[in-house]
Amino acid sequence: MSAATSGAHNLAVAFKTLGCKVNRVESDSMAAELLGRGCRMVQEDEAAVIVVNTCTVTGEADAKARKAVRHALKAAGEPVVVVTGCLAAIDAEALRALGERVLVEADKEAVAVRVATALGLAAADPFATPAPARAPRTGEGFRVRVPVKIQDGCDNFCTYCIVPYARGLPRSMPVADVIAEVAALAAEGVCEVVLTGINLGRYSDGDMGLPGLVGAVAQTGISRLRLSSIEPPDVTDELLAVMAKHGDVVCPHLHVPLQNGSDAVLEAMGRRYTAAQYVERIEAARSAVPGLAVTTDVIAGFPGETDDDHAATHALCERVGFSRLHVFRYSPREGTVAAARTARVVPEVKAERARTLRALDTRLREAFAGALLGCAVEVLVERIDGEEAAGTTLEYLDVRLPAAGLVAGQTVVVTLGEGMTGAC
Ligand code: SF4
Repeated sequence: MSAATSGAHNLAVAFKTLGCKVNRVESDSMAAELLGRGCRMVQEDEAAVIVVNTCTVTGEADAKARKAVRHALKAAGEPVVVVTGCLAAIDAEALRALGERVLVEADKEAVAVRVATALGLAAADPFATPAPARAPRTGEGFRVRVPVKIQDGCDNFCTYCIVPYARGLPRSMPVADVIAEVAALAAEGVCEVVLTGINLGRYSDGDMGLPGLVGAVAQTGISRLRLSSIEPPDVTDELLAVMAKHGDVVCPHLHVPLQNGSDAVLEAMGRRYTAAQYVERIEAARSAVPGLAVTTDVIAGFPGETDDDHAATHALCERVGFSRLHVFRYSPREGTVAAARTARVVPEVKAERARTLRALDTRLREAFAGALLGCAVEVLVERIDGEEAAGTTLEYLDVRLPAAGLVAGQTVVVTLGEGMTGAC
């Protein structure tokens, strides 16, 4: 009798996912494959195998990944720890050195086989039952908001970023597959799909770029379609026209990473736009898509960043009026051009700049939510916490409302009142 048929308790797997939305989608996909073949998902202390899906975007991310592996090694069942993701692609040796029970598998497509082998299943017949065509998803928000990964890789080579080395050059899911997947999700009752990629604007299948794809996906029957992060130069007039045309489906929200508001720092970062060009794209987006919410990422304390550069970032964020600002403190990532720069910003200054930008984030969020007070907003209910429901508006605003009569996955139009907004 194979281990696969000897009892599900042998097939207990846990996932620890770090980093970006793409990693979460990929973990879901690996977990779905394992679930479909008889494994079950458990907490780390019950697991025979723990998969750690790592990120390596900064030195801090590396440290978190190593900590997650060490933590997994200490789990009660002395599990095998399968490490995958970007750090596994960049620094397998260092990960292997963390313990004898560590297996490094950079290729996410091969993780299921590594897990099967670790569970003692025969390599030629790794699982007792074949994977179903559509295995159940395990990620938070299943059947409510589902990310669909349509693109991987990047060739921008921003000087602080290791992603192009870890994930390789851009490649895209065929348009027919994207449409089939979204249509199937819509038919299953999923309300919102988020098109996700490492560099979404690089989507390309034959003649079809991102704008064409968005137009096609908007007609699959999905109720809400959202785009994940998109680089400023990819916020093209063509894309905006498609968003406007399908405004009944495409959410009025864009996440456009700014990173810095100073041209000198943007150039040193290898970003492909100036501050003025960034603002021009956002203004074009707001004219094309009424009520558009714009969120962004900024990095505080990039090497060589002066007080004036920081002030320029602050001023630009205030001027644009982002609805949410994700603030990252720069930390050098070995192997990148920026890590070799010696003009480091001292940690106290970096921390202070990050603190100032986070305070601005709080203010901008409140202003954005305040402007919608008294307005009718469409909320996708994502979960019910006792007597309260938590959900997200089309503009990506977190909302809490009384749960009475609501179920996760439904959309409801409510008048936004005091106390309804805030982190969910
Ligand atoms: Fe990294 Fe720049 Fe590519 Fe983003 S666009 S993944 S920051 S290289």
